[in-house]
Amino acid sequence: MPRVHIKTYGCQMNERDTEQVSQMFTERGYTMTATDTDADVVLINTCSVRDQAEQKAMGKMGMVRRRRIPLVTGFMGCMAQSRGSELVDKAKVDLVVGTQKYHRVVDYVDEIIRAKEAKQMDEERFSIVDVEEEEQSQNTIRDHTLKEKQASAFVSIMQGCNMKCTFCIVPYTRGGERGRPIADIVEEVKRLAERGVKEVTLLGQIVNLYGRHEFPAVDGKSPFVQLLEAVHEVPGIQRIRFTSPHPIGYKKDLIEAFTYLPKLAEHVHLPVQSGSDAILKRMHRPYTAAKFTELVQRIRAARPDIAVTTDVIVGFPGETEENYLETRKLFEAIRFDNAFVFRYSKRRGTPAAEMEETIQVPEPVKEQRNQDLLALVNSIALPMYDRLVGQDVEILCEGPSKTNEARLTGRTGSNRIVVFDGNPARHIGEIFKVRITEAGHFTLFGDPVLS
Ligand code: SF4
Repeated sequence: MPRVHIKTYGCQMNERDTEQVSQMFTERGYTMTATDTDADVVLINTCSVRDQAEQKAMGKMGMVRRRRIPLVTGFMGCMAQSRGSELVDKAKVDLVVGTQKYHRVVDYVDEIIRAKEAKQMDEERFSIVDVEEEEQSQNTIRDHTLKEKQASAFVSIMQGCNMKCTFCIVPYTRGGERGRPIADIVEEVKRLAERGVKEVTLLGQIVNLYGRHEFPAVDGKSPFVQLLEAVHEVPGIQRIRFTSPHPIGYKKDLIEAFTYLPKLAEHVHLPVQSGSDAILKRMHRPYTAAKFTELVQRIRAARPDIAVTTDVIVGFPGETEENYLETRKLFEAIRFDNAFVFRYSKRRGTPAAEMEETIQVPEPVKEQRNQDLLALVNSIALPMYDRLVGQDVEILCEGPSKTNEARLTGRTGSNRIVVFDGNPARHIGEIFKVRITEAGHFTLFGDPVLS
């Protein structure tokens, strides 16, 4: 059977979609390969959030085809969705599959191979483009390929987003919000737990607003909190995370959930995007800096040990120095545990890309704000790591460290990375304590505590 390689660029949702497609290929008898050099089928699954990701994907496909033309090449995911058949002409691929059609990829590859083998089609006709919407497509991302001793898994609970933040392409590439039924998600989590998974991360573009249009609130609890409670009941699951949330989805019931669901990890990622009310309005983010600050206070009151991280964009169209300083001030006040700082870059097809040229922030100014904010984030966050030296922290060991294969790595509930010398057979996939001996740049080092 042909060998398949899927290269993935982008977010955890993309990784999860790739895992599903890989599993479907394996079930059909194909062999998945780690590199594209010996693959008969080369697919690229990429997001569209930044132009850079698209350029990288196009460059990669060009490189693959220059070296040797595989039997089948194709794009899937957000870029495929937004560019459609344009990719067949531009990148000369055989297959373009959008975000609601992942479950059709294997059939399409089969079809193309059959046609090529039978030589029934000329090069033009080999291509298949499917970027249509499909009802219930959110329910097709549900199977897992687990590595040996894998104890952490992502579970896709919904697709799409209705929020229409002006910088974001997701509502146009992933469509409107569609949630999976709670019972189906819980079944998937049970199956994972039976295979040894101890930690699940619930995934969605706007995960904490899951099901708001489809499922009713029960006893004042949103569908998302109902789902958290149900997953919390699954035997064997010891940690629950979720990403990516929206600040407006943190209603009273979700904040309270952190007080009575101990398996909810002590980490929230709260994308603030800007600390300026004027910019938040331009971004179409429905909260103010004051409301955001109050929200963080309420979350910290509910779970005092919780880590709060964020995403922020600097240099959004119209951002004045004063607006930037408001963001800076918010960062000083909140003192995030970590932050991902992005320089605004135009994303074709979004409302912000259409904003007048006159209000675009020059690149050197964006760069200066980026560096300034990063320095502030580091000056606040890194001492928090130093303070953990000498303490015992509980981690879930994920496997060998990415930077040093001879050592092992794991994460704390607050999502901090810990590297240590351990015994793979004994430690991988287990939850245990590590005594921290040293703090590095957003990484902790330590030794397992003998029990
Ligand atoms: S909430 Fe997130 S996914 Fe939805 S439009 Fe805004 S940034 Fe994009």
